[in-house]
Amino acid sequence: MEYISPEGLRLDGRRPMEMRQLRAQIGTVSKADGSAVFEMGNTKVLAAVYGPREVQNRSQQMNDQVLVHCQYSMANFSTGDRKRKPRGDRRSTEISLVIRQTMEACIMRHLMPRSQIDIYVQVLQADGGTRSACINAATLALADAGIPMCDLVTSCSSGYLNSTPLLDLNYVEDSAGGPDVTVGLLPKLDKVTLLQMDAKLPIDIFENVMQLAVEGCKAVANYIREILQENTKKLEYRRGQ
Ligand code: UDP
Repeated sequence: MEYISPEGLRLDGRRPMEMRQLRAQIGTVSKADGSAVFEMGNTKVLAAVYGPREVQNRSQQMNDQVLVHCQYSMANFSTGDRKRKPRGDRRSTEISLVIRQTMEACIMRHLMPRSQIDIYVQVLQADGGTRSACINAATLALADAGIPMCDLVTSCSSGYLNSTPLLDLNYVEDSAGGPDVTVGLLPKLDKVTLLQMDAKLPIDIFENVMQLAVEGCKAVANYIREILQENTKKLEYRRGQ
């Protein structure tokens, strides 16, 4: 199948290095300490953060740092075919672990010893790149909860189809069977905290594809900064009223 037209456009009309439209909203779950909805095109996820709070299972408590829990789940209605098991399957367990490790890289864990932070990420609408969208939503939700972080961690994926590197794959491109590289980046520190790939690529092409995902992460970081600044202005305005 041709994923790029002779005019150089993808199936959804994007250019190869173009990201889907980003949208975000902070403070969407009133009971949570921090929350956010993050959209990358038709992929839409919700993140809710609770904590730092008392450790629920005392045997897991750490005296020198905070314990971070993360749960990824997909709503039954998030995909075309009904999802029987929203969480607890191998894929969800793996993604929960990957997101937890990525978020731990930016949380200043030593500042909150003997406590626990719970991060819940739920996919509301899935169209490829849900783990990236969840990491971006979790970053916003952690910032909303006032959790100290050394940088904003952001994520984006890229792939390689029809001999062309493509940024931010949607479901149709993701399921084409080509390589899919997901990167998590601490943009200010210029550190990669997550790198996953589900196929083989020659090293020179891999470097291009990965670099594209890194650029995507930087673009997401700029967007997230804007959203956080807007949110701070709104809060200041409300306080001044
Ligand atoms: N997907 C689905 N049902 C599932 C799992 C995945 O429809 O049970 C779709 C969904 O659109 C997802 C895509 O397959 O975004 C790619 O899934 P993958 O495991 O590669 O993770 P993701 O790209 O979402 O991080």
